[in-house]
Amino acid sequence: MANIHTAQYLLSSNALLEAGALLEEQGRILEVGPIAQVKRSAPAATVIDHGDAALLPAFVNAHTHLELSHYPEWASAAGVGSEPCRFVDWILRLIVVKRSNPVATMDAAIKTGIRMCLESGTAAVGDILSWYDGRSAFTDTPLLGRIFLESLGQDVALTQQQFKKLNRVLKEQRIGNFEFGLSPHSPYTIRPQYMTQLFEHARKNQLRSAIHIAESPAEVDFLDGADGELAEHFYNAINWHQHRPKARHMRPIEYLAERGGLFKDQLLVHGVQLEGPEIDLIAEAGAPLVLCPRSNARLQVGTAPVARLKKAGIKLALGTDSLASNSSLSLWDELAFAAQTYGDTFSAQELFALATTGGATALGLQHELGELTPGLRASFQVVPLKKQIKPQELLETLINAGEGRMPESLVLDGQVVNFD
Ligand SMILES: [Zn+2]
Repeated sequence: MANIHTAQYLLSSNALLEAGALLEEQGRILEVGPIAQVKRSAPAATVIDHGDAALLPAFVNAHTHLELSHYPEWASAAGVGSEPCRFVDWILRLIVVKRSNPVATMDAAIKTGIRMCLESGTAAVGDILSWYDGRSAFTDTPLLGRIFLESLGQDVALTQQQFKKLNRVLKEQRIGNFEFGLSPHSPYTIRPQYMTQLFEHARKNQLRSAIHIAESPAEVDFLDGADGELAEHFYNAINWHQHRPKARHMRPIEYLAERGGLFKDQLLVHGVQLEGPEIDLIAEAGAPLVLCPRSNARLQVGTAPVARLKKAGIKLALGTDSLASNSSLSLWDELAFAAQTYGDTFSAQELFALATTGGATALGLQHELGELTPGLRASFQVVPLKKQIKPQELLETLINAGEGRMPESLVLDGQVVNFD
């Protein structure tokens, strides 16, 4: 059964169509064009007119930790503040909160997170999962994407145990609409040799990987002089003093490359501290980078050098990070903030692309999502337009309208997502 979806505006791959329409059959887009033309192609199709609304590609949120979606409640139960604070203090708080909570409660948190993503117009996520058993929460959802199984630790025996467990899950390849990848947490939370082992495993088995990198000034100090807040405060606080490394005098991307972790399927997350030569290395490797502007502001780590990243042609995406360092999982909210933070570098169209085609490319889903174009999934959000908006101002108006925007409905693979 074919359906034609039409509305006042439809954003196709390269143009905003007035009275545009898409023809959908079996969840895929067959044709996009002016309504009259699409109707002529499929006269028997059912026409669904969404009226005064814009049909826009569903979002791809390239960096989430859905298992932390109940963090604010957990933090207050644990007596830990969730207001903005410095990066290293924040990690220590996160550890306290995670330890104070039975891991099984993450199941409900993941389900909440999935719902928050769908409600705000998101079709896919690149999710980091530290509690591997939580993968079952992804079974029955129309959301899709990648689950990056997190690894960290310094102890040889414990990390090898973790590697075995990781491999058992990786053998399953996928759960629901999600494919598994792996994620060494960060350069300062994982034994260097284990990091290399994980990257070798990823490359040999053509697995996607994701890593938090060049996030804070403290990480830069750690990899350079083996000093600063991470080496001196964090390592002591969690009893890792014996694992404190010698000074490496390396930049984050140099260290990543030395460990074998700079390759095309490596999703780099944050990149706030990146400098010129590192940016060139990333461009050469073709690795995508996820920007998380609200999380970066909340943890007071600075602002990513987006003008230089754009100039170097880095494949950029947008992510919300978790509710431990953000106030929502909505990419509309992230875009509103990004417009203020990155507005000098990116136009509204470019910002919107970070949350759609950019995310899809970063997760290897560019043949599935990101654009409303024939061959891709018929996955789109219906955004109501309360007043007349000129076509050339549509995206800017929607993005700048501020936080709290929600689509009227989300259609994934041709089916309206039901939240009841
Ligand atoms: Zn993160």
